[in-house]
Amino acid sequence: MADFFEDTSANVEWHIGSYRILNGIGKGSFGEVRLARHIMTSTEVAVKIVNYEDYADVAEEIYSLQELNHPNITTLFEVINTHQQVYMFMEYAPEGTLHEYIRKCGPFSEKKARAPFRQILSAVHYCHQKNIVHRDIKPENILLDMGLNIKLADFGLSEVFMEEKLTTVCGTNPYMAPELFRLEPYEGPKVDVWSVGIVLYKMLTGVLPFVGKNLEELTEYILSGVFFIPYSLSVPCHKLLQKMINIDAGRRPTLGIIMQDRWVNTGSQRS
Ligand code: AMP
Repeated sequence: MADFFEDTSANVEWHIGSYRILNGIGKGSFGEVRLARHIMTSTEVAVKIVNYEDYADVAEEIYSLQELNHPNITTLFEVINTHQQVYMFMEYAPEGTLHEYIRKCGPFSEKKARAPFRQILSAVHYCHQKNIVHRDIKPENILLDMGLNIKLADFGLSEVFMEEKLTTVCGTNPYMAPELFRLEPYEGPKVDVWSVGIVLYKMLTGVLPFVGKNLEELTEYILSGVFFIPYSLSVPCHKLLQKMINIDAGRRPTLGIIMQDRWVNTGSQRS
């Protein structure tokens, strides 16, 4: 990546297709994310800009986002390829990430966590129904729109899954399922279930269930599957966390089953 991004200061603006490219709003592993405005409609969008030589790194993300159409997943509007850069124009989520929200506002009460958690479940379950596994679910990749609705983002590590198990080890360590650390072939959707469980834990407590001084120690804790659940959380909530953060992937429920869980449905029309 180098020259283009090094030469482009945050204040430089330019046009690509029907869009005016504005200020930077984030940096990912493969490129920069900027705010952009559709010239005819003045609609604000986010644009991920990646050097063309790194196209292979975002090909899977483009494929996945083109396949997905869900209210809680960032919509990909258009991809423009200039031979030097790839521009991915996406729905803009102006309220930042769930990670920033927890840092600013503290952990959610159980009552307040339910609605956004249901939206996370709905988004990831939909991906699984479309045979796409995200593999990097964490609060940094969960964006919030103006109404604080969830917009699942960053499908850079996503993959299509079929009958066979997956083998590529990837993700963000504290959110990765134990089977990944055991270097075993794994069922894609089950590693997302684990990560969604860790996200729920973080939403409710503000901290992570497994923390180590280094990767070796973190791996040891994750493989042990032993984690502390604060007594302040309700019994149904304990049970849900234990179901999702289960080291035995075979006994970890699918998201379809989690969506019928008692805690998830408390206060909804289904309960
Ligand atoms: P990513 O490369 O997808 O990990 O994005 C890097 C950062 O850019 C994210 O952590 C967000 O802060 C920001 N970002 C990415 N996509 C969007 C979006 N659609 N709307 C608003 N901010 C975004």
